[in-house]
Amino acid sequence: NLSDKLDKAFHILKGHGKITEVNVADTLKEVRRALLDADVNFKIAKDFTARVKEKAIGQDVLTTLQPGQLLVKLVKDELTELMGGDVAGVNLSGNPTVILMSGLQGSGKTTFSGKLANFLKTKKNKKPLLVACDIYRPAAINQLHVVGDQIGVEVYSEPENKNPVEIAQNAIKHAKANGFNVVIVDTAGRLAVDQEMMDEIARVHKAIQPQETLFVVDSMTGQDAVNTAKAFNDILNFDGVILTKLDGDTRGGAALSIKSVVNKPIKFVGTGEKMEAIDIFYPDRMAERILGMGDVVSLVERAQEQFDEEEARKLQKKIAKNEFGFDDFLTQIQQVKKMGNMKDLVGMIPGASKAMKDVEIEDDAFKHIEAIIYSMTPGERSKPAIIDVKRKARIAKGSGTKVEQVNQLMKQFDQMSKMMKMMQGPGGKNLMKMMGG
Ligand code: GDP
Ligand code: MG
Repeated sequence: NLSDKLDKAFHILKGHGKITEVNVADTLKEVRRALLDADVNFKIAKDFTARVKEKAIGQDVLTTLQPGQLLVKLVKDELTELMGGDVAGVNLSGNPTVILMSGLQGSGKTTFSGKLANFLKTKKNKKPLLVACDIYRPAAINQLHVVGDQIGVEVYSEPENKNPVEIAQNAIKHAKANGFNVVIVDTAGRLAVDQEMMDEIARVHKAIQPQETLFVVDSMTGQDAVNTAKAFNDILNFDGVILTKLDGDTRGGAALSIKSVVNKPIKFVGTGEKMEAIDIFYPDRMAERILGMGDVVSLVERAQEQFDEEEARKLQKKIAKNEFGFDDFLTQIQQVKKMGNMKDLVGMIPGASKAMKDVEIEDDAFKHIEAIIYSMTPGERSKPAIIDVKRKARIAKGSGTKVEQVNQLMKQFDQMSKMMKMMQGPGGKNLMKMMGG
């Protein structure tokens, strides 16, 4: 992926010890290739490296003490700029605020409608109403109701009505009459851009005059995402982009190109299927993520929301004293489960994706893990080192698992302890501090 490529590019630099004009050019060529591989438009990638080179020369990179680091910073800043510079918020004016979702089928509109409603309800103290305007599949209306039930948000639908314009207008009336201050309109999408879909979304848009029109796009669709964005923007002149499925290793070349092509900010990203898997889009963090520094800041924020401060303090002491045991691991798992998908979280920790690539991470794997830990004695939990072959066999039997699974968990535990120590080291200090230390 892009970050590995950049790692390689910067490695070339570091290997030379001293940076010459020749290897700056070589590195930037490598950077450009990495961008192209991540589906960034050719012209954008070319302009990008040209700008970095110009700045590198302008700032006399070659004469500074740490030219490699300065070049990394220049690349990062330029990436940040490319993705939109400052953080863009959602416009919540109007009473009710009307938010219209647009995008292709499968891009994640319905899921994101739920995430946004949940976000506005829990973080912004709003009373949102979800509106089902995908009238083509009965399952679509049902899907939104399921989402609404999950987050405790009312869903407005008219299963018999085949006119999305009317449904949206009626929903706004319903919202006004019942004290809802945000109306989120979920719409139908097709698998590809077609005239009928565009006409329909344009009619809904015109009739309800939303404060925010959001374009939802699957970040895994690469260059196509940019073309689709352009088509929707030509019709709707939308206000912002939602980049979904930015889970795990998807580095999101689309994020790099969209801003330059439609000149609209990316406002949120979706990082999983759960309702909590929504993050405000921070261009600088995204740039760091692309550069493989890991999205530590987002991770910290999520950790902060979910972690009990008291627990965190205790945990930190234990890690420091090398007393981190399976009971703590169990607590961690329970916390992590609340935070969302494991793979997403691991992907946010610099270096951790690599360190843990041999370890299978699955959400339902937690079930076995919990069973295994419950089968350990208190002594084994606090001093995992005493778990020998004989004990492993007993634990496996007691938990209804296989010895290999116990071994796997021991390995995972080992990795996690290492990761914990890593977080305590330079760069991880802040994480621990923010977690309550
Ligand atoms: P719509 O057709 O645009 O309404 O798309 P849906 O909201 O129905 O989403 C399509 C599929 O993508 C569903 O299986 C969702 O669970 C999944 N999905 C949506 N957002 C995300 C995301 O951020 N990450 C992942 N991994 N899956 C997502
Ligand atoms: Mg849908």
